[in-house]
Amino acid sequence: MRRAASALKRIYSSHNLAAVHHARNLLETEGIRAVVKNEFLSSAMGDLPPAECQAEVWVLHEKDFQAAETILRALDAQNDLPSWKCACGETCEGQFTQCWRCGAYRAG
Ligand SMILES: [Zn+2]
Repeated sequence: MRRAASALKRIYSSHNLAAVHHARNLLETEGIRAVVKNEFLSSAMGDLPPAECQAEVWVLHEKDFQAAETILRALDAQNDLPSWKCACGETCEGQFTQCWRCGAYRAG
């Protein structure tokens, strides 16, 4: 029996927890099993430098890694979109159509 641990691969990491969950949801939508790691670490240790507290997305099956990479590369391309300011005052990154803080949709 093969050990599952060796098949886990990190596909994405960011200090933006919303972006990490977005990436995971995107993979799950495409039928790729993925898990988020370090999310509690990152929220509990907000004073650490970003690199120290990045949340990560891990693909459960190595065979899915290449497909996942393709999906997330498309996601990265969307990062060039300009950020927008929500009515609640939160600045949201351009790839999000919904405010991560209050859940409101982007106007316009
Ligand atoms: Zn908002």
